[in-house]
Amino acid sequence: MSLVTVGSVAFDAIETPFGKTDKIIGGAGTYIALSSSYFVKNQNIVAVVGDDFPQEMIDKLGDRGVNLEGLQIKEGEKSFFWSGKYNNDMNSRDTLVTELNVLEHFDPIIPDSYQDCDYLMLGNLSPDVQLKVIDRLEKRPKLVALDTMNFWMDIAMDDLKKTLKAIDILIINDEEARQLSGEYSLVKAAKKIREMGPKYLVIKKGEHGALLFHGTNAFFAPALPLEDVFDPTGAGDTFAGGFMGYLASTDDVSFENMKRGIIAGSAMASFCVEKFGTEKLENLSKSEIEDRIQEFVKLTNFDMVQSI
Ligand code: AMP
Repeated sequence: MSLVTVGSVAFDAIETPFGKTDKIIGGAGTYIALSSSYFVKNQNIVAVVGDDFPQEMIDKLGDRGVNLEGLQIKEGEKSFFWSGKYNNDMNSRDTLVTELNVLEHFDPIIPDSYQDCDYLMLGNLSPDVQLKVIDRLEKRPKLVALDTMNFWMDIAMDDLKKTLKAIDILIINDEEARQLSGEYSLVKAAKKIREMGPKYLVIKKGEHGALLFHGTNAFFAPALPLEDVFDPTGAGDTFAGGFMGYLASTDDVSFENMKRGIIAGSAMASFCVEKFGTEKLENLSKSEIEDRIQEFVKLTNFDMVQSI
């Protein structure tokens, strides 16, 4: 099945208690595309960069099988830039700089070869652009997922609420779920958010795992306890890429299969945090991913001999 990914392809500068980077490659679309490329072959990206973006990284995405026809390169313009600093717990961070640059007037182009897309992953981007992509697809995909962040809630909440009505599944973190719903309890937040449009909701809780809600069903998966976490940037996008890549490759959008997708996404996110930026995601082997998924199965599997 085919997957279309939309999202920022960008430069990041990151500071964690373990170190600091200059400008490195980042962007929600980059992380999603790299992560899903391990699951789905027919994978297509819609994004925009400036002429400062390295051809080497574009080639790396191409080598991983990502169709780049929908990637616009704007001559004389600068790529999106984001900078963030993690607190000591590595679970919370502050945004230091957001320079929209090419994203400010991004008009997404959907090439003809993307039109038949079955799965659509709307990565972190202006909600207005995310809605344009849905509208520009002639046929509605089987599943439309969306990720967003506090930045867009702060400056474009009305657009975001409009876009939420057009999607199937929202993938956000706990802080964003609280901001969007105005509720502290994640159960109450999940109820309110699903009344805004999406039937499914995934709430990512960083090192505390991820929750999936649909109807009266809920599922929880832990994050893998890791010895070393260097940089959580992009972990949420990598999760979304693994989740959607898994659903697209298995072509099954049942709640049961979404649970497996959550594990696939969590496994991919566990790789992402082990190195700065996208490095770890660029060269993984199938067996490494398979082993990680099995670690999750082992971590969560138990026999209840007697209940009371
Ligand atoms: P995550 O850690 O999963 O929330 O994603 C971090 C990635 O999102 C970074 O690589 C940034 O380039 C990208 N990003 C940060 N802010 C924005 C924004 N306002 N719009 C789009 N992408 C963003």
